Amino acid sequence: MDHRFFQETLRQLQADGLFRSLRNVEPDSPGRPGRVTIEGRSVILLASNNYLGLADHPRITAAAISAIQRYGFGSGASRLISGNSALHRSLEDRIARFKRTEAALVFSTGYMANTGILSCLIPPEGLLIADRLSHASLIDGCRLNGSRFKVYEHKNTVQLNRLLAKKPEGQPAVVVTDGVFSMDGDIAPIDELVRIGKRYGATVFVDDAHATGVIGVEGRGSLEHFGIDPQDAIQMGTLGKALGCFGAYVAGSRVLIEYLTNKAKSFVYTTALPPTAAAAALAAFEILEEEPEHRERLWVNRNFYAEGLKSLGFDTMDSETPIIPILIGDTGSALRFSERLLEAGIFAPAIRPPTVPKGSARLRTTVMATHTRADLEYVLETLGKIGHSLEIL
Ligand code: PMP
Repeated sequence: MDHRFFQETLRQLQADGLFRSLRNVEPDSPGRPGRVTIEGRSVILLASNNYLGLADHPRITAAAISAIQRYGFGSGASRLISGNSALHRSLEDRIARFKRTEAALVFSTGYMANTGILSCLIPPEGLLIADRLSHASLIDGCRLNGSRFKVYEHKNTVQLNRLLAKKPEGQPAVVVTDGVFSMDGDIAPIDELVRIGKRYGATVFVDDAHATGVIGVEGRGSLEHFGIDPQDAIQMGTLGKALGCFGAYVAGSRVLIEYLTNKAKSFVYTTALPPTAAAAALAAFEILEEEPEHRERLWVNRNFYAEGLKSLGFDTMDSETPIIPILIGDTGSALRFSERLLEAGIFAPAIRPPTVPKGSARLRTTVMATHTRADLEYVLETLGKIGHSLEIL
């Protein structure tokens, strides 16, 4: 095979400051929460979606170990062949209960859930309209559907209304959005989206990957945050973020779940989630309901850190959640900032286009329930020093 295309693409990425590579992130010594080991050094982790710090919660690791001892590791086949276990079904019942819907369906990853669901959610003569900052998997899912696909400017409900008003009556339509935007940390106006959707007969599809376990009075996500009836939107979410596990789900009506079980290709044609992952997620949902202190600590940390950033003078965009971007602008400065932070013992990689729009490179910092106050104070002090020396402040 001719590798010139790869080489040229990689050279261009290097030249634009957009080349990416992997870094090994290892656990820190026990008893040092909110930290990891990178290249042999203990650093403060400011870049994880493990918001509640549940990934190594003893109830979750115990559930996973016990399931692995009973089931082994791999599920051996797709859910519809022989990969379905009682654990998968219990997890789906638990998710439906948590999200207050009739039913739920587990997918192997959030990326697969979004592409699989959106590609078959409406027939190809329909219309899909997504917020411009929707996650890449949502955009891919809309494109795979084959229906007309439009984008509205970030949270611009006036434009959304205008686009839907042009739709022929009776044409099936879906409005697609993140609940909490993954790179900006702001919350979608779901109440308004649902209202507009109802006006024009469009279904609202919410990706609650960063909302579940984080927002809402009981951490149930963005519908709970706005007090919206779960019948009024389709909710998707992931198990790999606040829940500290792996996998994803969609929650909705029984008939929707039965339809997706038959028609979502990324569900039908893929190996089932390992039973141990289902067992771990079951434990994580129990913890969400029984140990609200993790979410409480997360918000105490979030508010302390966000106020600190604001008083230093950083532009944290419209963040309302534990995802707090520090807007830099050009990719070179964002990379330099991130490198200086790592030298100082803080891990917060630069996020560059195409993950974020051109000219909006940033540090995407995330707060965890397990960060100590001393570590957050050190982070603020260091950010201030580096911000001044790079003339970002
Ligand atoms: N949706 C959003 C908003 C996400 O941030 C992510 C993960 N970055 C996904 C979906 C994909 O989920 P998963 O990691 O389980 O594939």
